[in-house]
Amino acid sequence: SSAPLVTLNNGVEMPQLGFGVWQVPDEQASETVRLALQAGYRSIDTAAIYGNEEGTGKGLAASGLPREDVFVTTKVWNNHHGHDAALRAFDASLARLRLEYVDLYLIHWPVPEQDLYLETWRALEKLLADGRARSIGVSNFKPAHLRRLLDTCDVVPALNQIELHPSFPQAEARALHAEHHIATEAWSPLGQGKLLDNPVLTQLGEKHGRTAAQVVLRWHLQLGNVVIPKSVTPSRIRENFAVTDFELAPEDMQLIAGLDNGTRIGPDPDEMN
Ligand code: NAD
Repeated sequence: SSAPLVTLNNGVEMPQLGFGVWQVPDEQASETVRLALQAGYRSIDTAAIYGNEEGTGKGLAASGLPREDVFVTTKVWNNHHGHDAALRAFDASLARLRLEYVDLYLIHWPVPEQDLYLETWRALEKLLADGRARSIGVSNFKPAHLRRLLDTCDVVPALNQIELHPSFPQAEARALHAEHHIATEAWSPLGQGKLLDNPVLTQLGEKHGRTAAQVVLRWHLQLGNVVIPKSVTPSRIRENFAVTDFELAPEDMQLIAGLDNGTRIGPDPDEMN
């Protein structure tokens, strides 16, 4: 089976369910990416800071899949904000990936302390115009950062990749994104695995004959989020992809909504430098 597609605000199609490779060592990334592609994933999320763009590129090549069949995302890191620095960082990422274009290039964090994200965005707009990025977006932009960008940008971001899971469902951000046709992509969609022993999720799993992880990923898909779960365990890589053939009822969605406790796992974007 294949993942459903979402159409971004520039018409580009993106798989709604992809595969994240944060914390996968570069030596392991090639095999892990190859396994994910074999399991059916067609979207891979990496970043310069993950240190595994080379391994990711090797896995893409080893899969034997045509380039246009895989959606590849990478991100500019915090020390390469600014117009020229971001362009150089992009060149370096492409070289490590051994690709001629990426499908999505993201500003990894807004880094408000540097106050360069508007200038960095100009560089991404140029990469889009040059066709070296098929779409451009942001990550970890809180509504205030996004509103400031929307005030001045020529190109509205296609997507905002933010921390989002049942404990931190980001209602305000999701509503703002929807208003501007910006896709919401959930990072740490499984809460880094820490939520999965919650009885609400294990009981819903029993009800549907699924695991708690599958229930959480299904919740994301039904909310309309793009998701990029990570695992290096072959059985879990497959398990996390098998979420398109069952459906949570409205009352199941309500129960999961009750897990919101307003707590992040990762840093507050206003404080990340
Ligand atoms: P995740 O929520 O995907 O959880 C991954 C962890 O959950 C695994 O390491 C494993 O311990 C556990 N797990 C995975 N599948 C499981 C299963 N089926 N059953 C039981 N446990 C399971 O966390 P993540 O890796 O932090 O996030 C996913 C991706 O999001 C990353 O790989 C990365 O691509 C992206 N990300 C982006 C940012 C950002 O700042 N933009 C930050 C963090 C992560």
